[in-house]
Amino acid sequence: MTETVVSSALAPRDHREPNRLWHTFCDMNAVARGPEFVVARGEGVWLWDESGDRYLDGTASLWYCNVGHGRREIADAVYRQMTTLDAYTVYGDFSNAPARDLSERLASHAPVVDPRVILTCGGGESIDTAAKLARRYWAVLGRPERTHLISRTGGYHGLNGFGTSIIGMERFRTGYGRLIEDTSVVAHDSAAALEAEILRVGPERVAAFFAEPVIGAGGVFLPEDDYFTEVARICDKYGVLFVVDSVICGFARMGNWFGIERFGVSPDMIVFAKGVSSGYLPLGGVVVSGRVADPFWNEAGNPFMHGTTYAGHPAGCAAAMANLDILEREDLFTVSLEVERHLDAALRTLSGHPLVAEVRSGMGVMGAVELTGEALDDLGITTAEVFAEARARGVILRPVPRALLVSPPLIITWEQIDHLVSTLAGALDAVA
Ligand code: PLP
Repeated sequence: MTETVVSSALAPRDHREPNRLWHTFCDMNAVARGPEFVVARGEGVWLWDESGDRYLDGTASLWYCNVGHGRREIADAVYRQMTTLDAYTVYGDFSNAPARDLSERLASHAPVVDPRVILTCGGGESIDTAAKLARRYWAVLGRPERTHLISRTGGYHGLNGFGTSIIGMERFRTGYGRLIEDTSVVAHDSAAALEAEILRVGPERVAAFFAEPVIGAGGVFLPEDDYFTEVARICDKYGVLFVVDSVICGFARMGNWFGIERFGVSPDMIVFAKGVSSGYLPLGGVVVSGRVADPFWNEAGNPFMHGTTYAGHPAGCAAAMANLDILEREDLFTVSLEVERHLDAALRTLSGHPLVAEVRSGMGVMGAVELTGEALDDLGITTAEVFAEARARGVILRPVPRALLVSPPLIITWEQIDHLVSTLAGALDAVA
């Protein structure tokens, strides 16, 4: 078997019949009766559709396929695990070897003091876990009024209950009635704005601050040089828990384990998902510092009454362990820094394009090419059109309202980066 992802033998669909799969983030009115883009197979940075046409995966699916597609050894590890112990919960005193080994491994690399690891099935679930734990921590310390959660403009933290409530993009928050209370969003680029907000709310009411090392889905916004040093100092000054969301930035995408190491600070919690398993099976979690864990671990009668059925799923953890083996063996931590430099240089060649307002890259294997106000607002060009043109030319990008985002697998070659960027340039020319 050379391929681990096999094309499903779908019969050609009769497009008079509506499609039954409700896609995520999708206007189904536009997709229900049209052809879907069925991804049939993947190998390395490449994907094939059902007709056998090949595409460069310029986004590593949704930022997660760090080691690339079709890694047989991850599939083998999952197979071995599933034929040994398919699934069992980590509820109560139950454990399993892959969950225990993965927690140990993540703890040994996390820039967190005296870490413990909570496992989940994804990023949004982990954000809800961290948010509830932050509030519960203060309640256990006898400070139940410390509930307020602060996050950043442009920050994306998944779309579960707390994630939807702290997200820094209005379009994901509206239309659901009243969201979880005691939350607020501050400017993404200013530690002073964080301090002002803590003082406005009252430090005695603030539970935690949530931040991505580099804002990803919100449009790839890089922090100022001293941003995180200042944030850590401010959180420390007011006792506010500092929660880093490394869901995108972790597992070598920024050349290290959790992204935040780049700034030399030690958070109270780190939320992770995506690259931990390169998405081969759904997995996420929270690394929790001793400061937060100890009141629950060291005193009887303080259980954290939270968790999900599939937390610590042995097959997911086995996939993650095999994925981390690849990251370490192929030293993708170092490789990704070179990829970052090459991607940055290549994307910057687009900054002279008449439709391009700004290129944001150079920190992590990710970048954003933002279109000009004139293109978007006056000429009515959409990023979705650029995305469609690029895909028709064999490169998959990610459109957000004002920019095209790229976040390829970390194994991408220089030649493939150049192909990605020249295809994006061609797509821009085509819509101009
Ligand atoms: N946090 C960040 C920074 C993310 O980018 C995402 C997903 O893109 C999430 C959280 C949510 O993860 P999930 O989609 O697995 O719930």
